[in-house]
Amino acid sequence: MEWKKQNKTYQILTAAEKGGYGVVAPIAYNIEGIIGMVAAAEAKSSPLIIQMFPWALTFSNGLLVHAAAQAARDASVPIAVHLDHAQDEALIKRAADLPFDSIMVDMSHYEMDENLRKTRELVEYCNERRITTEAEPGRIEGGEDGIADTADLEGKLTTAEQVESFVATGIDFLAPAFGNVHGEYGSRGPVLEYERLEAIRIATGGRVRIALHGTNDFPEDVMKRCIKGGVSKVNVNKLILDDYLQHLKKNASTMSLTVLLEEGVKEVQRMMEWQMDVCGSTGKA
Ligand SMILES: [Zn+2]
Repeated sequence: MEWKKQNKTYQILTAAEKGGYGVVAPIAYNIEGIIGMVAAAEAKSSPLIIQMFPWALTFSNGLLVHAAAQAARDASVPIAVHLDHAQDEALIKRAADLPFDSIMVDMSHYEMDENLRKTRELVEYCNERRITTEAEPGRIEGGEDGIADTADLEGKLTTAEQVESFVATGIDFLAPAFGNVHGEYGSRGPVLEYERLEAIRIATGGRVRIALHGTNDFPEDVMKRCIKGGVSKVNVNKLILDDYLQHLKKNASTMSLTVLLEEGVKEVQRMMEWQMDVCGSTGKA
């Protein structure tokens, strides 16, 4: 698949794995998010993957995706636009007509055989449109604002055998479950199985890049340990959102709207720059 070498997400993550750093992939909910993320990438001379939940497609009828794609094209650093946790087949097909570089085909709410069959079909559909794909072998527990909650389903840790089955579907990026969860970790913090991550990495045999999900409140050392363990795509949501939301709550009643939005962008940029330093992508663009 020669075209993959021209695919933005593929290029960015291939370089990251080779260079031993992680690329921050935050969820964008609005224009302020996109502007702040791109500003951080340019200020830090860092690659970036802007992610959206399927919610963004339905909410904005695709407008937000076009805005992110335009920002990515105009940027002075490599930026990809990715759809996170697409769990609905009709929506994936709709998304494949939007300017996404890559899509997470998440069929983890199906039983394994059905999951693999649907994943293979949808990977092919996306690939025909030159879109690369991510999937989740096992099942990462919990839910996030903006994606379907799978809390009624049991989380399942990824096994080496599953890695083989999923790589065979033709995916490019693999999101393993090794103790990471969507949502909150509680006072104990994340308890990750690094040995499992290592076994998964070995099982991939370098055929796919590894994506890390469920990084809410991750301490810096945990993030760095995961990247050392072979992770190259670092999904972040709450880590970037927290201070932005805090700012809105604190200042919405006193600041003028334009200043509120501009200051909000600065909050996003500040958090992004911090995570780019943590993940080691600073200066890698
Ligand atoms: Zn996720």
